[in-house]
Amino acid sequence: MNIHEYQAKQVLKAFGAPVAEGVAITSADQAEAAAKQLPGPLYVVKSQIHAGGRGKGKFKELPADAKGGVRLAFSIEDVVKNAKEMLGNTLVTAQTGEAGKQVNRLYIEDGADIARELYCSLLVDRSVGQTAFVVSTEGGMDIEAVAHDTPEKIKSVVIDPAAGVTDADVAAINDALALTGEAAEDGKSLFPILYKAFVEKDMSMLEINPLIVMENGHLRVLDAKVSFDGNALFRHPDIKE
Ligand code: GDP
Ligand code: MG
Repeated sequence: MNIHEYQAKQVLKAFGAPVAEGVAITSADQAEAAAKQLPGPLYVVKSQIHAGGRGKGKFKELPADAKGGVRLAFSIEDVVKNAKEMLGNTLVTAQTGEAGKQVNRLYIEDGADIARELYCSLLVDRSVGQTAFVVSTEGGMDIEAVAHDTPEKIKSVVIDPAAGVTDADVAAINDALALTGEAAEDGKSLFPILYKAFVEKDMSMLEINPLIVMENGHLRVLDAKVSFDGNALFRHPDIKE
């Protein structure tokens, strides 16, 4: 079972991870009020569907040159215009299949100025029965393609469950992601937070693609995908599919 991006971010935020402010909407007449709650001047309008590759996706009902399922907006009017264009339409991405998925919910987010896009995921490494961070400097793109073309750019850091995320683990992850200065400082709190959320919420996979270094030097979780094992569902009565 997967949850939507905005729900995954709510979970991570509750554990203290740096995520943008955002408001989920289900109709275009909610867009203006949603955007007004955000600082601006950059906004992001994000389709909430159970599939990745939204940014590069295409809406079936719109002209071929129309923008995709994740759009930057530069004013409140721009947010409203994009929301009207996206809601109710069918988004086709590399992960939806040809039929695509209808966009019934948008997440309006405070936009970030991005310096670098990184990849960070957590999964249970069945071979050792332990949780591992899988990270790469090559974020914001299809990680399977990175694994195929440049496997040396993907690093894995296995966490000993008895010790949790140690300083040495954080140093290894920071090093693998080439994080320095404030971003490396942020990593010291973020990576243990992600591990705690993963373990306490019984996630089977947590994928942040991208994790970004902002122009201001700090880390932010820009996209988040969380999967739960079917049998962990009963632990999440608040989350509906
Ligand atoms: P996905 O295409 O479904 O994986 O959706 P993402 O949430 O990963 O967004 C796709 C891409 O949109 C990201 O890799 C970024 O390049 C871009 N993007 C998303 N949010 C922002 C933002 O706040 N600021 C900027 N400048 N770009 C963003
Ligand atoms: Mg993404």
